[in-house]
Amino acid sequence: MLRASPPSTAWSLFTAALLLVIGLWGAIAAGVSGREFMDDLDRPLPALAASPPVVEPPPNAPLAQRVVIAIIDGLRLDVSRGLPFLDELRARGVDGRARAQYPTWSRPGYVNILTGVPPAFSGVRTNRYRGAVRLDSLMDRVRAVPATGTARRAGFASDYDPMPRLFLRPRLVPLNDVDITAMDEGTAEAWLHAIHTDLRGDFDDPRYAPWPGGFRDAAESVVAANDALAVLLIGAVDAAGHEYGGLEPEYKAAAFEADAALRASVAGLDLTRDAIIVIADHGHTDGGGHGGLEPTVVEVPFILAGAGIVPGAKVDVELMDVAPTAAVLLGIPAPGHGLGRAALPALRLAPAEATRIAALDDARVRANKAVVDRELRGERTARLGKRALRVAIVAAAAGLAVLLAWWLRLRGGMRLDLRVIGVGAPAFFIVYYTLIGVLGERFSPSLLPDRGHIALELLKYGAIGAAVHIVIGWLALRRRLELAERLAAANGIAWLGLMFAMVPAGLLWAYFPAPYVEVPSPRLLVFIPAVKVAIACYAGAVALSLLLEVVVFFSRAVDPRVRVIRLERAIEKARAQADRSSAGGRGR
Ligand SMILES: [Zn+2]
Repeated sequence: MLRASPPSTAWSLFTAALLLVIGLWGAIAAGVSGREFMDDLDRPLPALAASPPVVEPPPNAPLAQRVVIAIIDGLRLDVSRGLPFLDELRARGVDGRARAQYPTWSRPGYVNILTGVPPAFSGVRTNRYRGAVRLDSLMDRVRAVPATGTARRAGFASDYDPMPRLFLRPRLVPLNDVDITAMDEGTAEAWLHAIHTDLRGDFDDPRYAPWPGGFRDAAESVVAANDALAVLLIGAVDAAGHEYGGLEPEYKAAAFEADAALRASVAGLDLTRDAIIVIADHGHTDGGGHGGLEPTVVEVPFILAGAGIVPGAKVDVELMDVAPTAAVLLGIPAPGHGLGRAALPALRLAPAEATRIAALDDARVRANKAVVDRELRGERTARLGKRALRVAIVAAAAGLAVLLAWWLRLRGGMRLDLRVIGVGAPAFFIVYYTLIGVLGERFSPSLLPDRGHIALELLKYGAIGAAVHIVIGWLALRRRLELAERLAAANGIAWLGLMFAMVPAGLLWAYFPAPYVEVPSPRLLVFIPAVKVAIACYAGAVALSLLLEVVVFFSRAVDPRVRVIRLERAIEKARAQADRSSAGGRGR
């Protein structure tokens, strides 16, 4: 085995410069990738959107003249009990439970409620989703039926405005109006732009008004319009959940206020002819937050009352079952991309009708499931095909990095001092992952604050980890007297740290590459961006530490007083050691 050279000034500086460049590159690349993570989760064109909706003939006569769907954003099931108006509705109708589908964020939940397509397949997986959802919706079905008495219109009122924008529909313009020259560019975007020059809302009457008085007025007038479907969305409870947490009095107060506002808004309903469904898109953790699979996040109230509802029925459904249930109440086909089924026990149907609806639901779900399964299978095959090659590339890169370290060590540019490395290199990762695990309430996307970005949230922990790394690295190197030796030891910490950071990054790239056709599990949904942010922060910290060492190196190398002081200290220390050992020798 070749022996390492004693630390060399030139090689230590060279190694430091090399690691600095690698560290900075890693920090930037990982930072960019972390920033894009949420956008990589969203999919504007999932397979279902590209396949024709499965629209069956109306399965039954309407059970209710109109349906109001009230979505109380972020209302937990347990906190919903004891709210006066909701309890009244429960007493005269159905006290059910629904499970929000993962990821349990708001926009994915709204789309799930109104299309029957859960986030995994709707492509709307985060609250950052931009653009229109190209899935058949309850509003599309309502408007497709010829008017018979009740206006076949869909109204919407909310104190939180993004929902109508999710359901903008491109209106195909006549061929004469198509901009042929724009199509010459040949890109898909240019084509879409040329053809879809016009957008219309899926809601006929969307109203946004600030909480609470404004919402009440807007909701009242939407309900008074007598539309077949009215969707009311209350955002204030969710806001309180994020601010205070799901167990705090402020959150419960917001729930009471929402309950009262809902009572006032739907006072114009005649529940002998009309039906109301109360649902939430998700609940909240005790600490405030959602996105994951915690029971208090997943379980939400599902209350039905009024015409067509069987009082006291037991129902336990998923969010994707709400749209087909509302469709049966209105006597219209369920939204055609849906994967849910009507909550039949809650609906006043003749046995033959119930059987017919169940069969139609089965056929629709089967057809749509075939579409999503085909897409998943295709993506898995493609991913597995690339995996072996990518793992080989990562292994080769890691091997090269080891060779490089060995060579630099031989030249005297790097020291792998186990004691220093043992303290310096893992400090960041221990601090970072412990903070996420403890403060982030386990590895769950529910750690994400209101409508935020998961990478930005993780950056908080990364910044603390980076500071700890710099301080511990400094402490570990403090006693090194010889400057080249100190820099070489710092290089050793940096090299090992970069290996710790970049090998997992490479494995992520091999095993969980973007875009995510399959939604990563809750743990992975935090772990994937966590690794990216860790690399960004750690590589940044390594670069900063090394920069610090280079500054120390030059300032001390050129300052004769510092050199004299350090020399004197070294002599004193050597003398003291000599004294101790001679004293020890006498004692023996
Ligand atoms: Zn929400």
